[in-house]
Amino acid sequence: MSEQTRVLVVEDDARLALMLEELLRGEGYEVVVAKDGQRALHLGLSQPFDALLLDRGLPAIEGLDVLGRLRRKGVLAPALVLSALGNPSDKVEGLDRGAEDYLAKPFDIDELLARLRALLRRTTATVPVLRVPGGALDIEGRTVTLDGGEVLVLSDREGDLLEHFARRPSRIFARADLLLSVFPEASDEGVVDTYVHYLRKKLGRDAILTVRGVGYRLGAPE
Ligand code: CA
Repeated sequence: MSEQTRVLVVEDDARLALMLEELLRGEGYEVVVAKDGQRALHLGLSQPFDALLLDRGLPAIEGLDVLGRLRRKGVLAPALVLSALGNPSDKVEGLDRGAEDYLAKPFDIDELLARLRALLRRTTATVPVLRVPGGALDIEGRTVTLDGGEVLVLSDREGDLLEHFARRPSRIFARADLLLSVFPEASDEGVVDTYVHYLRKKLGRDAILTVRGVGYRLGAPE
């Protein structure tokens, strides 16, 4: 791993927070601790995290409310909720309100670490991201996160076309091939030109390059 995996730990119990911090650092994670919901919201909205480890019982704002607010603001880092409330209905509530996993306190340290690893694996497996000029395409969400942080929403067709280019970034595609692969129900190659035009409007002129007499290809990464 070239970059460290960043985990936001939200826990108001100082001893438990310290224990989690030391445990996760020992496993090679970069850890940031928030001791209350306000701080968690601030950190979660201002810094990128790969996973959230969230206590439910927090002063002022409950852990699941913190998570809900982060989710509504577009923070999608997977969340493992820790709670003293361990009966099935509490777990269901946690999962329904945006947590990816739920672990009752007291928990086993090895189980916690295993669940965290599973959570991190799952996100890289289920949210494939492809590099496109100036940013990253989230295939499932059909969004492009620009390097500056701005998020562009694509239509399904724009997303299909951009994904097609981004999966084979060095290849030149004939318009007829793009028509067949991305717009199978259309008969006019003009639809390819139209969607290339849309993508250029959103991503910049050089996002898709015209190869004269042949077709189109993805622009250079920068
Ligand atoms: Ca607590």
